[in-house]
Amino acid sequence: MADRPYRVLPRVTSENEHFWRGGEAGELRFLQCSSCGYLVHPPAPVCPIDLSRELAPHTVSGRATVAAFTVNHQPWYPGLDPPYVVAIVEIEEQEDLRLMTNVVNCGVETVRVGMAVRVLFEQHEDVWIPLFEPAA
Ligand SMILES: [Zn+2]
Repeated sequence: MADRPYRVLPRVTSENEHFWRGGEAGELRFLQCSSCGYLVHPPAPVCPIDLSRELAPHTVSGRATVAAFTVNHQPWYPGLDPPYVVAIVEIEEQEDLRLMTNVVNCGVETVRVGMAVRVLFEQHEDVWIPLFEPAA
């Protein structure tokens, strides 16, 4: 596709690689505390709940709910044509686990708070950006 949206790519490190490259396998991954099960995002060396350092990547379902969104009408970036939806989605597995993302593959006017969405990935070089689309 010639008109892929322009994106500022994250810097991939050993601490966040599971997140940015999970999409290569079609998987949305977060660090999970092996002691209490809490999903830690953004990646950190210590679980904020019980201070455990035993954290390991865990694959979630990819299902989420739109918690908040805005429709952007400004052409901030070349190639990313408005209008498009900037959303905060809540990951199904954990109430306070939220991602800032885009909701795609639907009309911007159809997006609602509480809408069920699922992850898909957009690859840019060695990074797989998690985006969300309406769940079937
Ligand atoms: Zn923990």
